[in-house]
Parts: sequence; C-alpha cells; structure tokens
Amino acid sequence: MAFDPKAATARYIDSLGAANLDKAHDYTVGGHWLLLWGIVVSAIVTWVIVRWGILDRLDRRIGERRRNLRAFLVSGAFILLSTVITLPWTIYESWWREKSYGRSSQPLADFLGQAALAAAISTLLTAVFMIGVYWLMRRTGKRWWLWSGGLAGIALAAVMLLAPILIEPMFNKYEPVPPGQVRDALVSMAGRAGIPPNKIYMYNGSRQSNNFTANVSGIGSSARVAISDVAFKNASLDEVRAVTGHEIGHYVLKHIWYAVALFAILALFLFWLADRLFPRFARAFGTDAGVAEPRAVPVLLFLVSLFAILASPIINTFSRMQEAQADLYSLRTENRPDALSSALVKTAEYRYPRPDPVEEAVFYDHPSVERRVHTAMEWKAIHPDPPAR
Ligand SMILES: [Zn+2]
Repeated sequence: MAFDPKAATARYIDSLGAANLDKAHDYTVGGHWLLLWGIVVSAIVTWVIVRWGILDRLDRRIGERRRNLRAFLVSGAFILLSTVITLPWTIYESWWREKSYGRSSQPLADFLGQAALAAAISTLLTAVFMIGVYWLMRRTGKRWWLWSGGLAGIALAAVMLLAPILIEPMFNKYEPVPPGQVRDALVSMAGRAGIPPNKIYMYNGSRQSNNFTANVSGIGSSARVAISDVAFKNASLDEVRAVTGHEIGHYVLKHIWYAVALFAILALFLFWLADRLFPRFARAFGTDAGVAEPRAVPVLLFLVSLFAILASPIINTFSRMQEAQADLYSLRTENRPDALSSALVKTAEYRYPRPDPVEEAVFYDHPSVERRVHTAMEWKAIHPDPPAR
C-alpha cells in the first residue's frame, strides 16, 4: 500500500494518548484565556496606580525643570509598582500553573529570584526607553508617534544584539555541547550552513521549564542557536539533528531581522493609535494629564500593551510563516521527516496539536503540530530515500 501522509500524521498525534491530548488542550486553551485576563489585570493595576496619585506626587517633587530625570524616575516607579502589585497574578500564571501542569520543576524561591532580576532589567530598560519617548514628544510634537516607532525598532535591535551576551547568561548557563556523537553531528551541520560551530550552545532550560525546546537569539555577530538540555536528554540523535536543522533555518534565513522590522512598523502604528485614543482612556482612568506628561505613563503603557494583544494575530501569523519556513529548511537540509515529527510531538505537550483553524490563526505562534507533522509526512511521501549522512 502506498504511503499515506494523512494516516501517518494521525498516528503521530494519536501516539500522545487521549489523556495527554486532553491535558495539552486544557493547558493551551487556558493559556489563551490567561492572555485575555491579563488585560483585565493590567487595567485594574493601571487604574489603582493612577487613582492612588503616587506618580503625581513624585512628579511634583522632581519639578518641571529636570525633564529627563522625571521621565526616567516616574516611568521606572510605575513599572516597579505595577510589577509588585501584579506579583500574585504572576506567581499563579507563570509558576503555580506551570508546576501544576508539570511544565516546570522550578522551586518558588528560584522563580522569585529570577522574577526580581527580570523586573529590575525591564524597569531599567523601559525607563531609559521612556526618556527617549518623552524627549521625542517635546521635540517633534504631534509627530512623536512616528519617531517613537523608529526608536522602538532601534531599541529592540539593541536589546536583541545584547540579549545573548548580557541578559540571557544572567538567567541560564550557556555551554558548548559536550564532546561526542551529538556534538560532531552539530558541528558538521553548522559547517554546512556556514555557521561557526561555537555559535551552537546547550543551555540549562530545565531550570525554568520542562519544555522540549530550542531557539535562535541575537542579531549580527551575537546571533546563536541554543538548545535546551531538556531536548538533549529526551531526544535521539536524529531528533536533535532535525530540531537543530529547524533552528539553523531561522538563523540562516535571518528571521530575527524580519521580526525586528515588523515590530518597528507595528510600534509606529501602536503609538499612533495610542496618541489618538489617549484622551478618552486618560479620562476613564481618572487622570487630567496629557500624553506628553510622564505622570500619565500608566495610561500610555496600558494602551500600548492592549494594542499589542490586539495585534497579536498579525504577529502570530508572521511567526507561523517563519516557523513553516524553518521546518522546510530542516527537511531540505537534513531530510529526516520522521525524526522531525517525533520531536514535534514532544512539543505538543504544551501546544495542543489539533486546534480549530480560527484558534490557530489568532493564538498560535507556531503552526499546529498536526499541520507541521503533516507537512513532514508529505515531504516524506515525495522524498522516500533515507538521509545519506
Ligand atoms: Zn522555530
């Protein structure tokens, strides 16, 4: 009988078992609801801080003249306060829930320590960024949103450049892959793709998460591929090759640059929309401050995060296209459709593999595992020969 890609796909997905599929479904759909609840939480926190008036008092104390300092301190104070007020929600969403689904084994103390570090970094970076935004508002007047969109693109590119060098090592240990069969395979794969072998790392992703995962981060000279130790522990050599082939695809196709460009365009649009709708939202939250006043930063940042959620179907669709390209890259260069599929099935534990198409279009940043395995099986149907290497 001829090879049937559809039946082969169904076998892969069904191999998870009904109980695991149900659990993955609950976890994934629950995650979508959390996104929506997150907006409600953020609206409440914004409202509480605006009504409290603490930023207005801080603003008065710093005075009119020291404008950059004021932008920095008021924005920084807001991020810090909202992080603290949101902490119970963060613990529920990012720690307790992950643990209860078996997605994480991180002790609470370690989670909190890392959350504090992340909060310190994001407070500092956001406050510095807001100095730039308020400066542009003073200098460019009504067109501030245009300039701020550009600034957001540059800021993101800078963070991307520095992340693998400065930020990520604060949270995880990145090491060369230990000598052996796996390392030899990865070095030769990297060589064929024109990537220096020392750009492929293993990191202790198991510290935060039990997810089978790998990623590309950095841009230009800082770009690199990192594979979680979870993937090393739970994968065959062929699976590691197939997954690394996918990540090398992201790297070689320079996907991060496209993502930065899309983000800059969206940021421009988001700032424009925030500018238009600001007065209405400011009134609703209860502040008389204008958009250019740092004491209204809670309203401005709430609008930006609200629109970012509303724009997520666009971002997700873009991301799904890149993921499909990376899968094809792996198939083309490694030709291991079965290893790619069995590796993908492991990621279905945290991304329900059979979503309905609307749910996939709106919420999924990767194509569903069913769709990806089906692509691999169709590839197999026309490329039946086993890999030469
Ligand atoms: Zn990917």
